[in-house]
Amino acid sequence: MAQIASVWIEEGCITCDACQETCPEVFHVTDDSCFIIADVRSDGKFDQNESKSLLKVESGSSLYDDIVDAAEGCPVDVIIFTTAGDGDEPSEEAAEVVEASVEVAAEKKVARAVAASGVQQPVIEVSLRLFRYDPILAEKGYDTYEVSVPGHHSLQQVLMNIKETQDGTLTFRTSASAGSDPLTGLEVNGNLVLADCVRMIDLLDSAGESAVLTVEPLSGHQVLKDLFVSTKALEVAKEKAKPWMRTRDRPGVLSAQGRAIGTMSSSDASRLHKMNDISSEHLLHSMSETVPHNRSYLGPAVCNRLWVRANDPRTSKECKQDMNAVLQGPDGIWAETDIGVMGRFGRLGSVVSKNLNDCRSELLRAHRFAGKSGRHVKWFSKTVKSSGTLNETILAAQTMGPLGAIANLPATLRMALGFTRTGGPPVRDWQGFIAPGKMPPLINKSVHNHHEVVAIFNELDKRF
Ligand code: SF4
Repeated sequence: MAQIASVWIEEGCITCDACQETCPEVFHVTDDSCFIIADVRSDGKFDQNESKSLLKVESGSSLYDDIVDAAEGCPVDVIIFTTAGDGDEPSEEAAEVVEASVEVAAEKKVARAVAASGVQQPVIEVSLRLFRYDPILAEKGYDTYEVSVPGHHSLQQVLMNIKETQDGTLTFRTSASAGSDPLTGLEVNGNLVLADCVRMIDLLDSAGESAVLTVEPLSGHQVLKDLFVSTKALEVAKEKAKPWMRTRDRPGVLSAQGRAIGTMSSSDASRLHKMNDISSEHLLHSMSETVPHNRSYLGPAVCNRLWVRANDPRTSKECKQDMNAVLQGPDGIWAETDIGVMGRFGRLGSVVSKNLNDCRSELLRAHRFAGKSGRHVKWFSKTVKSSGTLNETILAAQTMGPLGAIANLPATLRMALGFTRTGGPPVRDWQGFIAPGKMPPLINKSVHNHHEVVAIFNELDKRF
């Protein structure tokens, strides 16, 4: 006669009580899970029987049908059992139930682990509004596709699916595998993403309740067709800046194979790695709001590369000087209008915005706060420190310098005469029609608790 050798409960019991109602002699449902009763077990324990301890022979035999029924009725298939016979084969039906319960439980266990890890996501409904551009007809616009996709699919997978099933002319860059191509960048609802890495569920989070994703090519690059952009702008900027490393002579060591290799301290290596942790220069080039309007500007990607090279201890002194000169030049780092904007673009933007701000600070120091940028920084700090408020009149005059002040005589006169629309007598408003401007007086009065402003400045920056 066939009998149950062992029965146990896998992870995932929903404590529905079904098994206890079918076979109360074996199953007892607690608050957390179902347990195998001690009386029927050879080890006498009361738990889920993860150790797969054997049932007592008489229980495994007399309760055979009830245990099979309970396993069959478990809604989440977590009751697993094995059989043993004393010569008689178990019925075909019971054998199938055993086999199925083990297989389904194994599958469900994997599925639960995958779901818990977040690798698989439920199906989501989303509207994709795709930018289209036909270079032959010189026409552009948007096509909208309603798609229903698993949330863990990448944007690239979804675009490929649309191309295969709905519109074979849709053009975009693809990679061979996830994360392998830094050129798959796209702009989705204003966010810059790599299409082969980003999951649809993450994009949907950024789309809000509308569930509409507007997918556009990266800005700052020439659009060749639809979402496909040229890499030429970035390559031309690199060619112009020549951010290639020219190394200095430095001591090396012999490797175990007898080859001479250069060395670097681990702190230098970590610092460089952190500065250069850039997943896509193509994406980075698009983060700048200046690049689309100033074609001669090198862009943040090239400036960042120059700055990293200039900080590399392997770089020669001449190479560093050349790179700093390019960064300081008219198409270098000062051409960028707002580095802070890049900080909006997640980790990549934060890394670069810190690098570029450090670069600007270093260039200001190296050039002793000369030039318009240096004078602006210097007098911004000085005016705030002297009175507690920013004096734009002094700031503009000092930034321009004496020659600049003469060259901008109308503005200088307005500043000197204190034209203002705020706080001045009403006649000033009429003067504003002739020469508009909002200028504070030349000499500011100190603000209340001025010493606190000075203390903050001294804490942050002791240079001025
Ligand atoms: S039938 Fe399954 S889910 Fe319900 S209590 Fe028993 S083991 Fe748990």
